[in-house]
Amino acid sequence: MTTESTPVSSNFLRAIIEDDLASGKHETIVTRFPPEPNGYLHIGHAKSICLNFGLAKQFGGRCHLRFDDTNPAKEELEYIESIKENVRWLGFEWGDHLYYASDNFEQLYQWAEYLIQQGKAYVEELSVDEIRQYRGTLTDPGKESPFRNRPVEENLDLFRRMRAGEFPDGAKVLRARIDMAAPNMNLRDPVLYRILHTPHPHVGDAWRIYPMYDFAHGQSDAIEGITHSICTLEFEDHKPLYEWFLDNLPVPGHPRQYEFARLNLTYAVMSKRKLHELVHQGIVNGWDDPRMPTLSGIRRRGYTPEAVRAFCERIGVGRGDSWIDLSVLEECVREDLNERAPRALAVLRPLKVVIDNYPVDQAEEFEASNHPQQPEMGSRMITFSRELYIEQDDFAENPPKGFFRMTPGSEVRLRYAYIVRCTGVVKDEYGSVIEVHCEYDPASRGGSAADGRKIKGTIHWVSAAHACDAEIRLFDRLFTDPNPDRGGADYKQFLNPDSVEILTTAKLEASLALADAETRFQFERQGYFRPDTQDSLPGRPVFNRIVTLKDAWNKK
Ligand code: ATP
Ligand code: MG
Repeated sequence: MTTESTPVSSNFLRAIIEDDLASGKHETIVTRFPPEPNGYLHIGHAKSICLNFGLAKQFGGRCHLRFDDTNPAKEELEYIESIKENVRWLGFEWGDHLYYASDNFEQLYQWAEYLIQQGKAYVEELSVDEIRQYRGTLTDPGKESPFRNRPVEENLDLFRRMRAGEFPDGAKVLRARIDMAAPNMNLRDPVLYRILHTPHPHVGDAWRIYPMYDFAHGQSDAIEGITHSICTLEFEDHKPLYEWFLDNLPVPGHPRQYEFARLNLTYAVMSKRKLHELVHQGIVNGWDDPRMPTLSGIRRRGYTPEAVRAFCERIGVGRGDSWIDLSVLEECVREDLNERAPRALAVLRPLKVVIDNYPVDQAEEFEASNHPQQPEMGSRMITFSRELYIEQDDFAENPPKGFFRMTPGSEVRLRYAYIVRCTGVVKDEYGSVIEVHCEYDPASRGGSAADGRKIKGTIHWVSAAHACDAEIRLFDRLFTDPNPDRGGADYKQFLNPDSVEILTTAKLEASLALADAETRFQFERQGYFRPDTQDSLPGRPVFNRIVTLKDAWNKK
């Protein structure tokens, strides 16, 4: 496995389109994003969305959203709605150009009859297994079916009766009559239609037969006037068939298919079957679980559309199979949030601190800037008082060498406020420190010593009386292995048992109590967080960790 951690952005399709526009082959380009509505979109789809909508935008063309909905057994309205929402969230619009392959079912049916009339399609009665046996292998040619040379009239009659619902599921199929000895297996009389007595999420119960994907896809491209039909490399072998349909049917246009390498991302699974399994076996809490590589998941977690688009641009578009390390995506999220996330103070695992020489009933406010490099983002007031919380990790009774946070006898700066010195601790019956006592230097208001003495460490804090209680969900990678589904292994053995840690006693600065769900924050020294869109309550927020401040994984 090769991992590209710093890929150079390139996109060979841009050059092709530039040429097509320059040569006058096309005046304007039309692309499409064609999901099958049989699951939620994932980060791999984002690559295809950014590519198709991005090229259309760059070259002043248009991009269609088309549901390739040829298999009613697996498709649902819920998926259609989520796909639309995800594409919009990524920042793309299809305007009037929303299409369904199923809207073409009547036309596709007419074209199937046309092929029959041309002697280029026939009704097959071999079973699925027999069809497979007759198909041959890569090294052996296939065998012709005994039904292959039926008269046109008989084929038409049977096909019409298939449509009328006279036969049970699987009893017959319609096949193209191409070449059972073709070196490309896709040309060995591929199936065009199958019988399925299943209602369809978009067209209801109008049909008893449904076209196969290959018979619907290219023709839908032609009907919509697509110029560049961009798909992933596994369709390269289907291209001769794609062309065969366009050449043998009276279609209104002739789109061209181009293939690119799909996105493979480490520490994730992207097959829809596996994503379904994770959801339906309760391994994650739904399609939008913040650990999922689905667009709904990363959205709920707090990834921004800007970061995802930057990621898709950075990884580029090529034809070579490559793996992208998850850290590349995470770095894009960090770069985006570092620029625009307001800063806040949050104590995730609180330890009580009492400032013994600070007056009991006093409180004072300090101005804290919302972004140290962006003064235009303004500031807010944070309240200081005698009892505070600091992070448990920021105190050590017996500090290791180089520990510059709070330790007995030494001084540390409380961010924005004062310099304090730890004078003692209170322990519970097991010997754990449950409270730390300090004295503050009243002359250090704002955090600098009046006599100019140097203080090495600065830690964050919140006032106990003013803090807002919160739950914090620390998400980590869902898998411990960079390639959990390699070589047919059971990816579930690589589930990370620590992919989420829930902290229920966090204390946040008061301003976060009513944080709006769309705002992502940098909790200073902790990482980037945003309120959970489902479980957060006013005054009792739940924050999801979007990403840590630094990449910890590559150092493990
Ligand atoms: P399946 O065919 O197994 O249902 P799929 O992921 O191919 O799954 P589609 O709904 O057919 O799902 O995908 C829609 C579009 O997204 C297709 O054009 C497909 O090529 C593209 N796509 C899917 N996965 C990736 C990926 N990992 N990287 C880039 N593009 C992808
Ligand atoms: Mg597909």
